[in-house]
Amino acid sequence: MERNGIYEQTDISDKLREECGVFGIYDFDGNDIASTIYYGLFALQHRGQESCGIAVSETSGPKGKVSSYKGMGLVNEVFTHEALEGMKGDIGVGHVRYSTAGSSTRENAQPLVLNYVKGTLALAHNGNLINAPELRRELEYTGAIFQTTIDSEVIAYHIARERIHSASVEEAVTRAMKKIKGAYSLIVMSPRKLIGARDPFGFKPLCIGKRDHAYIIASESCALETVGAEFVRDVLPGEVVTITPDGGIVSDVSLCQPKVKEARCIFEYIYFARPDTHFDGMSVYGSRMLAGRFLAMDSAVEADLVVGVPESGNAAALGYSLESGIPFGTAFVKNGYVGRTFIKPKQSNRESSVRIKLNVLSEAVKGKRVIMIDDSIVRGTTCDRIVGMLKEAGATEVHVRVSSPPFLYECYFGTDIPSREQLIAYNRTIEEIRDLIGADSLDYLRVERLPELVENRPICTGCFTGQYPLDPPTEDIRGEYAE
Ligand code: SF4
Repeated sequence: MERNGIYEQTDISDKLREECGVFGIYDFDGNDIASTIYYGLFALQHRGQESCGIAVSETSGPKGKVSSYKGMGLVNEVFTHEALEGMKGDIGVGHVRYSTAGSSTRENAQPLVLNYVKGTLALAHNGNLINAPELRRELEYTGAIFQTTIDSEVIAYHIARERIHSASVEEAVTRAMKKIKGAYSLIVMSPRKLIGARDPFGFKPLCIGKRDHAYIIASESCALETVGAEFVRDVLPGEVVTITPDGGIVSDVSLCQPKVKEARCIFEYIYFARPDTHFDGMSVYGSRMLAGRFLAMDSAVEADLVVGVPESGNAAALGYSLESGIPFGTAFVKNGYVGRTFIKPKQSNRESSVRIKLNVLSEAVKGKRVIMIDDSIVRGTTCDRIVGMLKEAGATEVHVRVSSPPFLYECYFGTDIPSREQLIAYNRTIEEIRDLIGADSLDYLRVERLPELVENRPICTGCFTGQYPLDPPTEDIRGEYAE
């Protein structure tokens, strides 16, 4: 639905959502690890709030025995103390999910657990495959019956099939990777091995940690710190790592591409990842500060105060303030309890929906010219309201600076960017957008600045430029988006 030329949505936030977070651990001392996975997933909750699950196994037990538990909701809603207590095992994987491809149902929750001729596999996946529909059709023609609508099951099937002709499960993972195309960071648990794999473009993060005699593979380094593990290194784009007590970490880099072809998702740095995460050698917090500094250099404006739209706009606001010398302040109080199950206001009283989440501190902004830093504007549904709230609270001018370029194109790699017509920047000039959101001035981070945010490591900028690191799919692979 449209309001003042801005597309409305049912959510009260105008933020994009990450698809998933993954966490796996193998404790060589044989300790139970279900609760460690629970806390790891808790640290990755920002990557997916619709469903979650854990699968564990005892490496000394029978090969096919896996206990798994999954459900719809947040990690602390799905898992009770009793549920965790009942999960015995020294090797396991966990997953948090928000659906971009495949609908939001319990069947689609992960990890997927698959029994096949060589035992049991459990798999957790972050990302989107661009050739999943054709691979799924191929498998269906040869008799495969799918229980879910997610492309992770296509990956699991391929690994199971390849395993029959492979000497090891890690070889089967590598062979399956030659068939699947797109974005994936995977963790596979076989009865005696934990395997991590990252697509050759490195779209999504994946890192390795160590705690005593246990190895961990996780989407983000923040999860390692939460469980008291030390960061070992990132899994390289295209690398398959196998963790066993005999070999420690064994690496296969046969599918790695030349570095220039890598394409890490720049939006992980701008918004998705937690600020305390390090991803491919770069601090997420540092990248966000830098984005703010670049905005101050490229889009300067006279003002009395710089504020960030919490939480993700804060680091960029601090960067802007440090670069410009304009004081940094707090203008918003955020209600952190607006969760997934929050009853959203009806269309008729939508005016209050942003206020439920955010209030303005009028003492901080009254009589001041304010620079408001946000990390992104997708549809523009909340930005106009926040600008309005600052003005009502007495700000004399509101200048909006956005620490990402305008969204103009779809993402095929696991981010729920809505259709182009719904993007506020589609077919509009910056001046037209400024007018719609009611700001005194508006500017975005320049596209040319994006590589500088990550010290010129190769990145994907597809949603800003329309130039993708691999050809977009010819059929619609997008799932049910919240629009
Ligand atoms: S298109 Fe955008 S959101 Fe998608 S992977 Fe590339 S940079 Fe990330």
